Amino acid sequence: MLFAGIGAEGQRRLLASRATVVGCGAIGAAAANLLVRAGVGHVTIIDRDFVEPSNLQRQTLFDESDAQDTLPKAVAAERKLLAINSSVKVRGVVADLSPGNAEKLLPDCDLILDGTDNFETRFLINDFAMKAGLPWIYAAGVSSYGLTMTIRPGLTACLACLVENGDSGRALEETCDTVGVLGPIVNLVASWQVAEALKILAGRTEALHDRLLSCDVWSSHMQSIRVARNPQCRACVRRDFSYLDGEAQPQITLCGRDSVQIHERSRALDLPTLAFRLRPVVQDVRQNDFLLRFRVALYEMTVFADGRAILKGSKDPAVARSLYARYLGT
Ligand SMILES: [Zn+2]
Repeated sequence: MLFAGIGAEGQRRLLASRATVVGCGAIGAAAANLLVRAGVGHVTIIDRDFVEPSNLQRQTLFDESDAQDTLPKAVAAERKLLAINSSVKVRGVVADLSPGNAEKLLPDCDLILDGTDNFETRFLINDFAMKAGLPWIYAAGVSSYGLTMTIRPGLTACLACLVENGDSGRALEETCDTVGVLGPIVNLVASWQVAEALKILAGRTEALHDRLLSCDVWSSHMQSIRVARNPQCRACVRRDFSYLDGEAQPQITLCGRDSVQIHERSRALDLPTLAFRLRPVVQDVRQNDFLLRFRVALYEMTVFADGRAILKGSKDPAVARSLYARYLGT
């Protein structure tokens, strides 16, 4: 409230506002932490993954016990954030944002923050935001490099203007699983992102920079570019929302190095019963309220209560399908 840019009125607005963070890896966790500490009144976190020890180097909301318990990130984040600020509402949603559930999971907010690690989900968010007229803030980081841009429908360029125009500056085709990512860059990008979020939610949109900001914390190279709207843009001009319409949504997708996600079946699984059934036939069955994990041969399968599964140890969709069918049925 002492900061002139926000003041008592801005703080009151923050408390009445609703932000949704999609993806709770390094950027999402850092952003959710800053939003909750700033007193944003309703924060929803959507994430499909669980905490692993290798996340802790950069994902500042989690600790060793979360990894030990293989808690879903959305659940661990909700617990931590409520312990940080009990006067705001925090909701963790364990789900994979997809064309099938985007219109159900995303509408209940004033702003969406990108904490994802892939362009498919970002284009889905972009389509949804353009259709609904909601602002969202793109953010990404890999290696020592990161960038962010605030997108306001009809006022600024959108992600499709930026990327589908072949003018992305630098493609982020490398992933954190192949080249790693430094903690400082993702926390820097999240800080930029949340500063923009506070301007929007506090009603101070005149302070927005409307630029694509990028930075490499290793070379100390920084860039700020104005991105023009594409007058032919598929998404924000022609309103062709092909990602939201879910054309060709793959049912098995690569997720990280040597892992695939199986999400062709949405169904409620009874995890304790499944654990009981699997114990005699597979190794290392572990189960908590949210997921079940087991090993079989060289593979590790993690199954969520909504029927989704992540298979580690193979990139082959056929192997994933076969193991899923063999141990979880169809
Ligand atoms: Zn556009």
